Amino acid sequence: MSDQFDVIVIGSGPGGYVCAIRAAQLGLKVACAEKRATLGGTCLNIGCIPSKALLHSSENFSATQHAWAEHGIVVEGIKLDLARMQARKAEVVNANVRGVEFLFKKNKVAWLKGEARILAAGRVAVAGTEYAAKSIVIATGSESSPLAGVEVDEKRIVTSTGALELDRVPEHLVVIGGGVIGLELGSVWRRLGAQVTVVEFLDRLIPGNDGEIAKHFQRILAKQGIKFRLSTKVTGAELTDTGVTLTVQPVQGGAAEEIAADVVLLSIGRRPYTEGLGLAEAGVALDEAGRVKTDPHFATSVPGIYAIGDVIAGPMLAHKAEDEGVALAEQLAGGAGHVNYEAIPGVVYTWPEVAGVGRTEEQLKAEKIEYRVGKFPFTANGRARAMGCTDGFVKILADAATDRILGCHIIGPEAGTLIAEIVTAIEFGASSEDVARLCHAHPSLNEAVKEAALAVDNRAIHI
Ligand SMILES: Cc1cc2nc3c(=O)[nH]c(=O)nc-3n(C[C@H](O)[C@H](O)[C@H](O)COP(=O)(O)OP(=O)(O)OC[C@H]3O[C@@H](n4cnc5c(N)ncnc54)[C@H](O)[C@@H]3O)c2cc1C
Repeated sequence: MSDQFDVIVIGSGPGGYVCAIRAAQLGLKVACAEKRATLGGTCLNIGCIPSKALLHSSENFSATQHAWAEHGIVVEGIKLDLARMQARKAEVVNANVRGVEFLFKKNKVAWLKGEARILAAGRVAVAGTEYAAKSIVIATGSESSPLAGVEVDEKRIVTSTGALELDRVPEHLVVIGGGVIGLELGSVWRRLGAQVTVVEFLDRLIPGNDGEIAKHFQRILAKQGIKFRLSTKVTGAELTDTGVTLTVQPVQGGAAEEIAADVVLLSIGRRPYTEGLGLAEAGVALDEAGRVKTDPHFATSVPGIYAIGDVIAGPMLAHKAEDEGVALAEQLAGGAGHVNYEAIPGVVYTWPEVAGVGRTEEQLKAEKIEYRVGKFPFTANGRARAMGCTDGFVKILADAATDRILGCHIIGPEAGTLIAEIVTAIEFGASSEDVARLCHAHPSLNEAVKEAALAVDNRAIHI
């Protein structure tokens, strides 16, 4: 036995690295095993961070081409240097993963390099060496879900990982799946000049989000030139000399059709990643979706083994994984951490952004909860007008009897930042009147949130 730890965390994504750092801050002796060459998991290496770098760069490119002239800024001879854009993205990723390495050193978290395998409760093997730990935390994350008949080669048929690495702008990119990742990466390549078609099985985009917002979102993306084939299923993909031929069919039945693409992005969702961990042998139970089964305290079916992040139930989001990491670390150090799953925001980082927290109208109807709606459009917000970003609106859902805020859904500029106010409000059990009576700086986009809160009681001022 090489070394003994209080906690060994397996996986250094936002769940794992945050759990490791918090446990170390609380005085525990901690190691984190990571099989990738760099720390930070999916999020920092091939997820949130590189996608946001490309979204930001492509947004700047598109704004320079289409939006700045209206502001009196005339730029001639705009050219795309994709190699530089990709190199910048790599620099951003590198700075972030090095940052986690620095934080591990600062907090004395040992980085065990290599693939970890659980031998039993209290025993982990990493790259041929066995370690002992009082507690083991599984934070192995997720991977892109496969689709029968669509063989990924990460060149012409890619997952999000390959879509972040393309070295030329595809002429026609077909995105399979109208969820967050597909629409964000579809937006990147659309802005850089690709023709983009999104094929979605359901009759709507971003399932799980508010339906009205999803419809509005589709209209805006369509105006940006993205084409949609909803209620359509992909039945196969074949590589050709020039690209890929996709076979699609209406979900309700009907004639099959072929779509030619030069790159296909498969983004139909993600599935928990537990390969090679030895879970079956260790007796760690999985649920029907292949996720590690946990109780409300992140304990698995084996005492002393815990799990957090994408590998367990709940939204596959970096901040959800982080909060679970902190809560679990605090429990392992003798405290009482917990996560409020009613107040986890979700953001789509397109332009405009889409953000939501709490219940949707669809959920409230299904749960037969009486509610009132307050809405306010960005067309009536002074700051949005000054920015020239008036697409979208804020919608607040409040309990009809108590006025407590139950949900908020925003499509518009900086929606992902604006939603934080309502996350705070929900955490504090605030009413829409509470938010409406807060002083909001003028002129700010946040005033649209205040006005939506006022609108719950039909007393918005500026519309
Ligand atoms: C393109 C893309 C964009 C995204 N954008 C966002 C976003 O904007 N906002 C957001 O909140 N979420 C986003 N996500 C989701 C987010 O990345 C995940 O929710 C988050 O990374 C989950 O964190 P995690 O710690 O559970 O696992 P992960 O980040 O997946 O990390 C797990 C780590 O465990 C390691 N590992 C696995 N098995 C072993 C083993 N046996 N031994 C050692 N190491 C192992 C893996 O190598 C990996 O590094 C995005 C995802 C993708 C793919």
